[in-house]
Amino acid sequence: VLGLRERSQNETVVDRPNDITNQEVSSREEILQIRKSLPAYGMRSQIVQTVRDNQVTIIIGETGSGKTTQLAQYLDEAGLCQSGKSIGCTQPRRVAAMSVAKRVALEMGVELGQEVGYSIRFEDCTSNKTKIKYMTDGILLREALMDHTLERYDCIIIDEAHERSLNTDVILGLFKRLLAKRRDIKLIITSATINATKFADFFGGAPLCTIPGRTFPIQVIYSKHPVSDYVESSVMQAIRIHLSTGIDTGDILIFMTGQEDIEATNDALREKLTEIYSKSIGITRYDEINNIEIFPIYSALPADVQSRIFKKLESGKRKIVISTNIAETSLTIDGVRYVVDCGFAKLKVYNPKIGLDSLTITPISRANADQRSGRAGRTGPGIAYRMYTEDAAYDDMYSQAIPEIQRTNLSNTVLLLKSLRVDDILKFPFIDPPPLQTLLASLYELHFLGALDNYGNLTSLGIDMSKLPLRPSLSKALLVSAKNGCSEEMVTIVSMLSVPLVFYRPTERQKESDQARSRFFVPESDHLTLLNVYSQWKSNRYSHRWCGRHFLQYRSLQRARDIRGQLVKIMQSQGIPLVSSGTEWDIVRKCVCSGFAHQAAKISGLGKYVHLKTGMEIQLHPTSALYGMGDLPPFVVYNELLMTTKEYISCVTSVDPFWLMDYGGLLYDIKRIKEVDNDEVKGFFRLVDRPQDTRNEPDELDFRMKNC
Ligand code: ADP
Ligand code: MG
Repeated sequence: VLGLRERSQNETVVDRPNDITNQEVSSREEILQIRKSLPAYGMRSQIVQTVRDNQVTIIIGETGSGKTTQLAQYLDEAGLCQSGKSIGCTQPRRVAAMSVAKRVALEMGVELGQEVGYSIRFEDCTSNKTKIKYMTDGILLREALMDHTLERYDCIIIDEAHERSLNTDVILGLFKRLLAKRRDIKLIITSATINATKFADFFGGAPLCTIPGRTFPIQVIYSKHPVSDYVESSVMQAIRIHLSTGIDTGDILIFMTGQEDIEATNDALREKLTEIYSKSIGITRYDEINNIEIFPIYSALPADVQSRIFKKLESGKRKIVISTNIAETSLTIDGVRYVVDCGFAKLKVYNPKIGLDSLTITPISRANADQRSGRAGRTGPGIAYRMYTEDAAYDDMYSQAIPEIQRTNLSNTVLLLKSLRVDDILKFPFIDPPPLQTLLASLYELHFLGALDNYGNLTSLGIDMSKLPLRPSLSKALLVSAKNGCSEEMVTIVSMLSVPLVFYRPTERQKESDQARSRFFVPESDHLTLLNVYSQWKSNRYSHRWCGRHFLQYRSLQRARDIRGQLVKIMQSQGIPLVSSGTEWDIVRKCVCSGFAHQAAKISGLGKYVHLKTGMEIQLHPTSALYGMGDLPPFVVYNELLMTTKEYISCVTSVDPFWLMDYGGLLYDIKRIKEVDNDEVKGFFRLVDRPQDTRNEPDELDFRMKNC
């Protein structure tokens, strides 16, 4: 195996003789040493042999044993990848796909994007030379759409399968069928110890290869009392560790829920440390502290910032990493000896009854808690501090996490499966089936959007929708806009909806930033407001400084611009015309309505709306541009229903009830009423639920189930 590796190193030297300095060569030797020291290394011939002998192999190993970075290289070195084909390795997370590809390119001494590359939604960093391709599981699904039998791959590694991400589960189900069609393809599933046998059983007793672990004992310390603020107690715990242990004993890893909590922890840590050090050694600013470096990590951070967490610090310095659950298994940061676990994670939770898909902060499972603690014992005995009581771990936590497929909206997945000619979704081999109600709600939504016909078959609109890498409602709005002459505008709106919020609202300058935001407001529509922001940014030559002045997140806008570019390319390849409506903005609103007519609300009181489909009371989000209208509009559609203290709708557009009729005829009807009251719109017409609406009638559902 190593013979082959060395040859490929020499080739690189010959290719680019001037690029390689002595220092790099020696660091390459170092890399080889590191590779050899990984637990997976000792297993490589056994792994390769098992993969040769079997179509499906399950590989189990502790985090950090080398599964993600080494397996694909072993398979490649052993010649399991024929010329012209590649080894694909899926990751549930974008960040992991990018970071790992970068690492493997470095290990192989090649340029990222050439022999080793990655592909994530809206970003393809591969070439026709790419032999090892890291990608999100979502990308592999989209590729399956274009090429049902995945001809370009010899091997597919489904990494982090124990995470049970929605797309991973769907891919595994698809492989049940694919394996019979392509006897030559190899499927490798990697998993942490939890759940591994489930995969083996699912594939009819596939062989398990276990990479022996190398973990040190970990002492788990629970909080004695329930904590009221997990950010604060995690910060205090990290500081206690930092002050009471020698810096060279190891680094600290704090698990937080998501971006906001991570930033809050980061700020609080800096503040507290500055306070402490100012008393003891008289510094005045955080930057003057020279024995600590803090690294936040979450998916919205740009790749170069993320990869800094792997940097080795000079001695006498301690690393504190504050991470989402990405550091649970997907990324391994060496040198961590102390773990602080807040006990929560941000999870997607879906309520099919009201169509509410929300990110909710939920207690993690006991399996996750153990995984988190395990991160402390990679380089020596470690300590894990849990910011919850032992009782809470048993009372509030499930033993295993609920797979994503059972707690998320499935409209996208159902559309995809339909496009893959999985006609009977209810018979699809799911490892764990999703709730029936969720599947039905998704079928219903797709039917409503016109992607499925009355028999549950894909319509031509549905086929076109499935070719766009967007949520079904956004795909529909984009396609309708192309027909109505405003796709230039809609593709911008759709791109802006695909990035984190562009408005920046720092706590200490809220008023100022709110004012800045309101200058972009188009009072009829938050969607048009987003379009307005983008257009103005564009006319200011996409300037960074201009964003700063207007309290806009440059990074989000930049990403929206990239996404827009990608979408335009896809539209061109699909023959979807790119046309502008100029200043004719009503037509854009109408097209927004076409994609979101099932998410409509009518006014019910001062600042209050009621959901047209469910009758649920909802409120306009305080940041909405619609508050600028004077009177709030009688009918609106929204992009998102959020649950915080109340149910809020965010990114909202005022619509004409006739448009709702045009696009939601299945659901709504307009009834002419006799009395003409003062209200102009409500006076003549009233939008009512269609009497023949059969959403909840079991017969109809049964009928659809039979045909789905
Ligand atoms: P596994 O997938 O089994 O959890 P990995 O293959 O991700 O293990 O990691 C193997 C080793 O490579 C670990 O010691 C990890 O720290 C190191 N590693 C992974 N990614 C990087 C990176 N981007 N930079 C430096 N080291 C890395
Ligand atoms: Mg891994």
